[in-house]
Amino acid sequence: MIPIARPMIETEEKEAVLAVLDSGMLAQGEWVASFEKAFAKYIGVKHAVAASSGTAALHLAMLAHGIGPGDEVITSPFTFIATANAVLYTGARPVFVDIEPDTFDIDPNQVEESITQRTKAILPVHLFGHPVEMDAIMEIAERHGLTVIEDAAQAHGAEYHGQKVGSFGTGVFSFYPTKNMTTGEGGMLTTDDDFLAGKLRLLRDHGMPRRYVHEVLGYNFRMTNIAAAIGLAQLSKLDGFNSARIGNATYLTERIHKVITPTVRPGVKHVFHQYTVRVPSGRDDAVEKLREAGVGVGIYYPIPIHQQSLYRGLGYHERFPAAEQAASEVLSLPVHPALTQEDLNRIVEVVEAL
Ligand SMILES: *Cc1c(COP(=O)(O)O)cnc(C)c1O
Repeated sequence: MIPIARPMIETEEKEAVLAVLDSGMLAQGEWVASFEKAFAKYIGVKHAVAASSGTAALHLAMLAHGIGPGDEVITSPFTFIATANAVLYTGARPVFVDIEPDTFDIDPNQVEESITQRTKAILPVHLFGHPVEMDAIMEIAERHGLTVIEDAAQAHGAEYHGQKVGSFGTGVFSFYPTKNMTTGEGGMLTTDDDFLAGKLRLLRDHGMPRRYVHEVLGYNFRMTNIAAAIGLAQLSKLDGFNSARIGNATYLTERIHKVITPTVRPGVKHVFHQYTVRVPSGRDDAVEKLREAGVGVGIYYPIPIHQQSLYRGLGYHERFPAAEQAASEVLSLPVHPALTQEDLNRIVEVVEAL
């Protein structure tokens, strides 16, 4: 089976982990600080704050921006559940806006009509590694005095008009093993704002500016040195991983005609966390055939968030036709850097025989 995802763990990661184990300093420490510094430099921002997961990082972003009960946060219904759940954790309410059918990203043209007196933030998701139309999002946010928190959990190194995602608003990244780079579990926040970075650090570690002095209700959302050591090794290879993903995607798109291949908007660097195609009819049969032929397939995502039972129970009854159609038509093919030329040819062969 050609797997849908495979982390690239090599000698550098193994040696880095051993060095941490030998040091005896396993929890958050020097390695985390070095990883934060390197990640901030890579994204092109002043501060990066590491967290225990992408979900924890999203939660910290909400808290540090003061989002809470009575507030609304505008986001996409077609994303991983953590995006919207992070809003719920704070007592605020996610407000969904439908997606662009071609990129699967939130449609900026529908954002403004969803803004109310309660709206605090816009939470765009650079889904599958394709950057959201950030000029439009930033312009709307500025006009209405809203915070922008970018869910860049699938878009490490992606660029919009030459600028890395995660540097427009407050950036949130995930290092789960299937992502473009991994730390096992882990997350990162990026910002140019000194005050916000301080707040994030405080909230991440029990609201504790100095040992056993607690100023606010904080959490333990810290990253371990073990994870950070893996992250440092992975970060140095990220551009190579992304180039391999882009090369694989280009190869597939040039040869696949049976299904609708991914769109890449002019002016963006799409880093292909997923290579997501549309099968307008018979998607589920296609998935079965692909798997039988040894091609790993993922469906991201089969149920849009507003139709999950958790959200139905919270009173979400609105419809989002583009998100619902995408959920019934998409499938993702392997595009990760571990694919061989033989794998790529096999994927093309099986898809074209559907
Ligand atoms: C992976 C992911 C997250 C959550 O990250 P974890 O590290 O798994 O907690 C959030 N949003 C999106 C879009 C993701 O893909």
